[in-house]
Amino acid sequence: MSILAAYRQHPRRFEDFKFVYPVLSRRSRGMSIGLNVNPDKICNFDCIYCQVDRSTPATVTKFDLGVAEAELREMLATDLSKHPPFDAVPKENLRVNDIALSGDAEPTTLKNFSATIEMIARVKPAGCKIVLITDAGGLDRADVKRGLEIMDANDGEVWAKLDAGTEEYFKLINRTKIPFKRILKNIAACAKARPVVIQSLFMRVRGLAPSDTEIGAYCERLREIGNINPARSGIKLVQVYTLARKPMTVVDGVPAWQFVAVLSNAEVDAIAERVRREAAVPAESFYGG
Ligand code: SF4
Repeated sequence: MSILAAYRQHPRRFEDFKFVYPVLSRRSRGMSIGLNVNPDKICNFDCIYCQVDRSTPATVTKFDLGVAEAELREMLATDLSKHPPFDAVPKENLRVNDIALSGDAEPTTLKNFSATIEMIARVKPAGCKIVLITDAGGLDRADVKRGLEIMDANDGEVWAKLDAGTEEYFKLINRTKIPFKRILKNIAACAKARPVVIQSLFMRVRGLAPSDTEIGAYCERLREIGNINPARSGIKLVQVYTLARKPMTVVDGVPAWQFVAVLSNAEVDAIAERVRREAAVPAESFYGG
């Protein structure tokens, strides 16, 4: 197995673990330990590009904090260089950079969110980040806000999804009943208290890349969020990326992979450049697979 294969594989499974899995992550620049807090695969979004296979029933349906803690402790004590595909990865790249709440749906819907963050803060090695990868739908929940405060005191970082500049495009891509306004409000409130990383995935849908007008509106939304607290730099970084793996969503009976397509490296770079120029925030490109 090659190092490239290790980067391409993102299974949310490791041996017989239920909730904890290791990922060699481009965006984390090393190892990220994932915590799947939504094994039931029920999400508040239904993104057109989602890679979660919802055609098969979930084998585990309930997140168990005690089991997750035991698994996380065991994972942190595991020598991953003895486990494929990580045995092909140079040892220096196997350092655990973060523990990420991610998985098969949206972590901010988790009932015991703040207790879960407390557990990670207790167990993680010094200097290891806690990353919340979120669609921002539940950032306004009281228990989530408590969890964010614990993250702030323990090397936490919020990576919030923003794939659109207009309500119409948001509905096309993220396919949720949550109004775009509420998502923007949640990200802005979060960015007011701490710098956030914005993750934006763009692609071709039925042959069409997002229009210039849509990207202009998206940069405007970023500018609004970034300006909310310029003294504390509301947006730390924008990660502009495109499809890296095959989507598993089905739209009106048609598998999404039949009508969505990756953007070219030049198209990704052009959006990142507009973000730097028009929203005045740092941006990085992540190319497709
Ligand atoms: S990509 Fe994330 S937010 Fe979107 S449907 Fe899939 S799990 Fe939910």
